[in-house]
Amino acid sequence: MKTFCGRANPTTGAMEWLEEDENYDYHQEIARSRYADMLHDKDRNVKYYQGIRAAVSRVKERGEKAIVLDIGTGTGLLSMMAASAGADFCYAIEVFKPMANAAVKIVEKNGFSDKIKVINKHSTEVTVGPDGDMQCRANILVTELFDTELIGEGALPTYEHAHKYLVQEGCEAVPHRATVYVQLVESKRMWSWNKLFPVHVEAEDGEKIIVSPSEMENCPGVPSVCDIQLNQMPSSDFTILSDVVTMFSVDFSKPVRSASTYYRVQLEPVKSGKAQIVLSWWDIDMDPSGMINCTMAPYWVKSTSAFQWRDHWMQCVYFLPNEEPVLQGEKVYLTACRDEYSVWYKLQKARGEEENKADVCVESPVCRCQAHLLWNRPRFGELNDQNRTRQYIESLMKVLKTDSVCLCISDGSLLPVLAHYLGAKQLLIKTVAFFFFKFFKANHLEDKIKIIEARPELLTSSHLEDKKISVLVGEPFFTTSLLPWHNLYFWYARTAVTSHLTSNVTVLPQSASLHMMIVEFQDLWRIRSPCGICEGFDVQTMDDMIKNSLNFRESKEAEPHPLWEYPCKSLSDPREVLTFDFRKTVPQHCLSTEGSVNLSRKGKSHGAVLWMEYHLAADIPISTGLIQISNEKGNCEWNPHCKQAVYFFSSVIESETLSDLPSAVTYAINFNTKTGEIAMDFQL
Ligand code: SAH
Repeated sequence: MKTFCGRANPTTGAMEWLEEDENYDYHQEIARSRYADMLHDKDRNVKYYQGIRAAVSRVKERGEKAIVLDIGTGTGLLSMMAASAGADFCYAIEVFKPMANAAVKIVEKNGFSDKIKVINKHSTEVTVGPDGDMQCRANILVTELFDTELIGEGALPTYEHAHKYLVQEGCEAVPHRATVYVQLVESKRMWSWNKLFPVHVEAEDGEKIIVSPSEMENCPGVPSVCDIQLNQMPSSDFTILSDVVTMFSVDFSKPVRSASTYYRVQLEPVKSGKAQIVLSWWDIDMDPSGMINCTMAPYWVKSTSAFQWRDHWMQCVYFLPNEEPVLQGEKVYLTACRDEYSVWYKLQKARGEEENKADVCVESPVCRCQAHLLWNRPRFGELNDQNRTRQYIESLMKVLKTDSVCLCISDGSLLPVLAHYLGAKQLLIKTVAFFFFKFFKANHLEDKIKIIEARPELLTSSHLEDKKISVLVGEPFFTTSLLPWHNLYFWYARTAVTSHLTSNVTVLPQSASLHMMIVEFQDLWRIRSPCGICEGFDVQTMDDMIKNSLNFRESKEAEPHPLWEYPCKSLSDPREVLTFDFRKTVPQHCLSTEGSVNLSRKGKSHGAVLWMEYHLAADIPISTGLIQISNEKGNCEWNPHCKQAVYFFSSVIESETLSDLPSAVTYAINFNTKTGEIAMDFQL
């Protein structure tokens, strides 16, 4: 059987349906899953084990048999912990077939087949009774169904169902309780991920300001959670406006209600400022006493020095619908609304309680202005980056003349507006037209900039009103790009419109280059490292399965990661490995390079990082990757708006020893101009 998977083609910018092996989807799922990361989360594992032992003892002390229901068993880990702790029987439910199969093997290998029954079903399909999946209801409920937002993976409806049909009243639950915490902050950096700030342009005839349409100013944005490694956010990037407060908690040992609801707390700002962002995280108490606690609290809140890095649970950033000035000591109300799967926030000045209640919003935020559908959060951040804008302005000023006919090819770009203020007559293509109509209107540009809704290869002279293009610009940025070099689609588009360009056309950026550096990650390597033995249980079957899935397609491919969230140090100097000349068309032949980089710093070579740099007009480079190596230790600063490509060296990550460190890494990198993809190979 075959299945079809959508993928953007970097040579056409279009989505294409590729025929894939029927196993493709789940190999992808396993290869990119967070199972390995969870199994490496020592803090989580240890606390689950403690909580499970305590729950089994409590049941045994009551003279009852310990019957465990483990919903979402994954590798079977929590059931094996329960069986080892003396549980009489465990029902291990797992909906994802390849995982359920792996759980059967892992349970058998560890000698628990007589105590653990793996059931490959969604928990809501599980039956109880003499002929059912479960003989009787369980008296211990163990789960790990949480995401960074706690409820995003459907924990609430799953618990609600389990309490109704699968467990006894008064059952023990591990975890026993989850609590969601919030803190109100002001942060220009985070606020810039959801709102477009006015863009200032110093034109010859004075300063111009690009503004957003009013719909955009009042738009709450998209409901999807913004989850980040908040521990990488320096304290200088936000101002704390309130203490940490408990927003709500869920007791998992009692019936759980998943229906939409809201919670409200009163906050007394500790500082005056603009309330913009609600930072949020949760903790779970594994037992009723609250002595076994696993917390996602960020660095400025957590007192323990034993810090657990994890990527499967991070912290949430919520954007208030509008920024709200608050005064120190003057109380405000913060409301958390939630449906079954997501949470959103609203802040109100303390008024009459009744008035406030009437105001509670129950629908989740939806983008009304279209901009949040066009620009994701990092893209908002990029467009709001004044330094970057200044570099584009400077370059545009160098190349634009008053009679320039300018064509912009980039998704949702503000370059046409900049170009207009800097004096060009221009046209624009390849963008989401609907939003841009409104945007141009707000800036009185609707008759100054023309939107051409045609793919570059279908561009005709009539689109261009029979003019030839003298300046072709792009950022380049395309929403379908996954890896840094996919934005080379600009080069393909430039090639497609060649017949419409003047003979001495200026292309901006004039060229791009691919850069590479060997790094040692502080933590990110863990997501690709095997687990072997986890809390005494052999989970190697899981490692083999992940490896097999990686080999299925992707092992020789790089993967995108926003490295500002994942500290690393450079082991080699950064090196430019390929260049792409946008002044010329895409060549027929492949571009390849090979070489060797010296490892000048001591450390484990976890992988190579690759990124693109664009050369705007002469001497103005824009890096989408490395900004600088900050100190002698080699710590790196990365572009905060972009993802970089990471190619992991599995042989290094899998080896335990640090003995023979290589002194150089050789590489072979090939850009296939037919497919727009880059293949690479490294030898240590
Ligand atoms: N318990 C394991 C794995 C947790 S990951 C551990 O702690 O290491 C969560 C798993 O739950 C995933 O494998 C997912 O497929 C499964 N899952 C989520 N909701 C489920 C449900 N309602 N019924 C059955 N499986 C579920």
